[in-house]
Amino acid sequence: MKSQGFFYLRPMTLTALHKLFLEHPKICTDTRKIEKGCLFFALKGPNFNGNAFASNAIEKGAVHAVIDEKEFHVEGKTILVENALETLQKLSIYHRNYSNAKVISLTGSNGKTTTKELIHAVLSKKYKTIATKGNLNNHIGVPLTLLSIQPDTEMAIVEMGANHQGEIAFLSGISQPDYGYITNFGKAHLEGFGGVEGVIKGKSELYNYLLANDRYVFMNADDPIQRQKLASYTKKIGFSTHDPQYYIIRPIMTNPFLEVAFDDLQVKTQLIGEYNFTNCAIAITMGKYFNVPVEDIKKAIEAYRPQNNRSEVIEKNGHRIILDAYNANPTSMMAALNSFKAIEGENKVLFLGDMFELGDAAHEEHQKISEAIGNLGFETAYLIGDNFGKTENGYPKFESFDEIRDYLTKHPLPPSTILIKGSRGMALERLLEIL
Ligand code: ATP
Ligand code: MG
Repeated sequence: MKSQGFFYLRPMTLTALHKLFLEHPKICTDTRKIEKGCLFFALKGPNFNGNAFASNAIEKGAVHAVIDEKEFHVEGKTILVENALETLQKLSIYHRNYSNAKVISLTGSNGKTTTKELIHAVLSKKYKTIATKGNLNNHIGVPLTLLSIQPDTEMAIVEMGANHQGEIAFLSGISQPDYGYITNFGKAHLEGFGGVEGVIKGKSELYNYLLANDRYVFMNADDPIQRQKLASYTKKIGFSTHDPQYYIIRPIMTNPFLEVAFDDLQVKTQLIGEYNFTNCAIAITMGKYFNVPVEDIKKAIEAYRPQNNRSEVIEKNGHRIILDAYNANPTSMMAALNSFKAIEGENKVLFLGDMFELGDAAHEEHQKISEAIGNLGFETAYLIGDNFGKTENGYPKFESFDEIRDYLTKHPLPPSTILIKGSRGMALERLLEIL
């Protein structure tokens, strides 16, 4: 038997490992979340070595543990490989190719998870569909998503995230999408990608995979970069607000929720912000392309509510709070400010936290945002964090969360319409306890 480059304590090929996986189709990588009968993969992180937990995983009910350090061997229970992470990735590729599911992979700077969930909602109306859980979109999450493909799965939606060149190429090689979509090319993770051009190059690695393998590309046909990149490629399916070569889908902005029109239907979403238009539009496009009945597409999108601090609307103590504290970068910050400007409401107040991972562009991008606040005519804004602290503008600044907490405790706000947005590390959802 061919060894596939692995080194086993008891000889096992990838085919044999996959067979074992089919008998025990649950993967665990964390001993705090062991499910009985799972296969445990001993992964290494910056602060832990999964091998050290292998015997514990087995005690808690894992049937086997895949390890890559001999000394943690447990007789009859461990499978020794050269590299457990690589084995997990290779197993997921094997499983992906074993399955008949169509794989749709998506990446982009903003809106991946929201888009993934909307597509999942729409396609589930007609097909057995699985999707990335939460935000598990990296070199471990993508394999785990593929390994969650069941025998009856028809569609698998895979979110792929990256903050460096080469990662999307790598994740595309693992998920091997039949269809792909890039949400947008924005100013996110500028530090790791090397500026905006770097982002375009990095995200386009998905197009490189799709084009080289003659696969279908879904597109926002109104995005000039997507249009230009795909100009001579024929296997493309897209939406546009006006170009009849594509599905015509239009935003109708309302207060505060987004409404979208397609065919003769008007879809009333529970999503805030015009930036959610493209997220909905691609889900509608895929629904139409894969023949989901249009009424079902409408129902799926109308029922979807964002979670985890992604553009949630919360009514509290007379305030209407738009909580968008999940993450922030210059593109999503501007999108949020523009959309907040457009909605109706009394006493508009901004709480903006620092945007991370901008590298050399940090100062300039924070300065631009603070100028944009003034240009958009917002009178009340509270800026929180070191980077906003260095900007020049007339708005009050708070270096730390404790400072803003003290301030608000002493100066409670009158009933207001509030936008809260900042990078994940700022955890601005904590403001909800004070407001
Ligand atoms: P991550 O990189 O953390 O995986 P993501 O790309 O999955 O993020 P989401 O979690 O869907 O993105 O959305 C995060 C935030 O990005 C939203 O709360 C919203 O502020 C903003 N956002 C969502 N969609 C868009 C879009 N199409 N354009 C710009 N900003 C967007
Ligand atoms: Mg995400």
